[in-house]
Amino acid sequence: MPETLTPPGPKPEGFDPDWVRAKHAYERAKRLRRDGIEQFVEVTAEFSHWEDDPYVERTSRDPVNDEVEILMIGAGLGSLIAAARMREAGLDGIRLLDRAGGVGGTWYWNRYPGIQCDIESYIYMPLLEELGYIPTQKYAYGAEIREHLTAIAHKYDLVRDALFHTTVTEMVWDEASERWIVHTDRGDRIRARIVVVSPGSLVRPKLPGIPGINEFEGHTFHTGRWDYSYTGGDESGELTGLQDKSVGVVGTGATGLQVVPHLGRWAEQLYVFQRTPNAVDERGNKPTDPDWAATLEPGWQRERMENFTRYTAGMESHTDLVDDGWTRVASEVTKTAIQQENERRGAPMTPEEIGEFLFEADYRSMERVRARIDSIVTDKATAEALKPWYKRLCKRVGFHDDFLPTFNRDNVELVDTDGRGIERLTRDGVVVGGTEYKVDALIFATGYDVSSSYTRRAGFDIIGRDGIHLSDKWKSGPRTFHGLQSNGFPNCFFLGYTQTGIANNYTHTAEERARHLVYLLQQRVERGATTIEADLEAEDGWVSTMKELSKPGQAFYADCTPSYLDNEGDSGNPDGLVAANYGGGPIQFFELLARWRDSGQMDGVTLS
Ligand code: NDP
Repeated sequence: MPETLTPPGPKPEGFDPDWVRAKHAYERAKRLRRDGIEQFVEVTAEFSHWEDDPYVERTSRDPVNDEVEILMIGAGLGSLIAAARMREAGLDGIRLLDRAGGVGGTWYWNRYPGIQCDIESYIYMPLLEELGYIPTQKYAYGAEIREHLTAIAHKYDLVRDALFHTTVTEMVWDEASERWIVHTDRGDRIRARIVVVSPGSLVRPKLPGIPGINEFEGHTFHTGRWDYSYTGGDESGELTGLQDKSVGVVGTGATGLQVVPHLGRWAEQLYVFQRTPNAVDERGNKPTDPDWAATLEPGWQRERMENFTRYTAGMESHTDLVDDGWTRVASEVTKTAIQQENERRGAPMTPEEIGEFLFEADYRSMERVRARIDSIVTDKATAEALKPWYKRLCKRVGFHDDFLPTFNRDNVELVDTDGRGIERLTRDGVVVGGTEYKVDALIFATGYDVSSSYTRRAGFDIIGRDGIHLSDKWKSGPRTFHGLQSNGFPNCFFLGYTQTGIANNYTHTAEERARHLVYLLQQRVERGATTIEADLEAEDGWVSTMKELSKPGQAFYADCTPSYLDNEGDSGNPDGLVAANYGGGPIQFFELLARWRDSGQMDGVTLS
């Protein structure tokens, strides 16, 4: 579709596919930027203080010079699940290491007021049955999740030997001793037989390179490093420090939705700077029903998690155990919707019929969201500006019940930048459309670096066999086998979004990757090998598979308004989420790994 900056005419009464396409194209063209992902600045040098830990004091300690069996770099949710599963399998000598002052990763760093999981906590919070814990609410708040992750670390004895507030500077393979030598900013030198690298994806703040970002003299911070010493209060709110302040917040993504109601309640004046409206659907949080919890049979969490992933991936269209906004959207606009429609029609639709059906279903789903805005936001111009115009799944679906009502407050103003973003910052304000909005504090809810190169996100390079640098080997995108291993880097495993099947519920992905990792580590021991490494041929094959399977995803995003999901309009970029996602679907990916394990052949992996 051609990029067009010509606005379509007035909205017709009913569904007019041509008008909707023209509207989508217009909104996308406004939002597209030539600088793509380069519009964001790397948080180094003069921006490095944006990453400082405001929560836990960094204490001094002596450098460590020792050896461990398994070093896990990163102590977030993915690492904790993997480490717990390793312990259960009898694998020992595990050390966690993290730049944060404790475990939790995303949930360590993100402590902004109102923080909450947006996937149901009964399937998102890991190892509930193992810990005998039931979350207090359908969508738990951040503190509860952080405490649960800490409880996991204690239960599996992962804290005693951990190194926190420690940043890896280099990791080098020593062929003679068949060990990784890992150096840190604390002067540590740790030898490890196995290293699991899990740098996290929602951890490193992403800052828009807005002109003047260094000139603004008011208070600034990113939502991933909330400054309660300035705002007062805590994750539950009570931001009393803002009562006499004019505050600006940049961003209306999943974080913006959660934080805006609290800022609106406490700031003297709040300006919400919006670039692209979010499609905000109902949340419907509720306390856990103890009677329901009492009915849960062993194995319930896995069953529920699988059901959710199958349902939202269009592989189950009848049983919906979670029954929430996510599954409702799946019933409206995904393969699940197609199956349900086929059943209703009593015959499968043709590909053309599917295309038409989905486009109209998408429009109806978004109309529902837009009507919700009209029913809540009283000022008509504000309501119009809050309406999203793109396909439902172009952006991460958003849910909140207090975000929209916040715009009915007298002290809250939506400053819509009409897809173009903030013009510039001055010494004491923000300029949009030539108007300066004076603010005492500017809070960036601008997301996380999810698509720069792996080594930039990790913050260090990995030097494998024969001195090969991972940054060189992966300069055109990740090169792995099954997302976990890369040839030339023996006994090194990658967790996170590397060429893997991503479920909407990240915990499910993490569980499946942990299961596979544990299998590989067990095989290494059982088969009496010292090293385990992906073969080059298998890796090449996996990279080709990834490329091939990402084509439908790229086609889908071709007419979307850009976001981090499509690497700012460049979804073919192999470092971006679309190309780093196993496009065949999460369940298919999990099943592929299971078949590979069941074969027992270790095809594509050399143990020596
Ligand atoms: P996002 O990247 O989704 O959103 C960033 C926001 O900043 C967008 O609204 C973006 O606008 C805006 N922005 C960026 N640059 C500018 C600019 N120059 N001028 C004006 N606005 C700008 O980050 P989030 O932190 O909201 O969410 C990231 C992800 O984290 C989520 O998608 C989700 O996966 C996860 N998350 C999960 C939560 C949970 O409960 N589990 C809660 C919070 C986050 P635009 O849309 O135009 O790009």
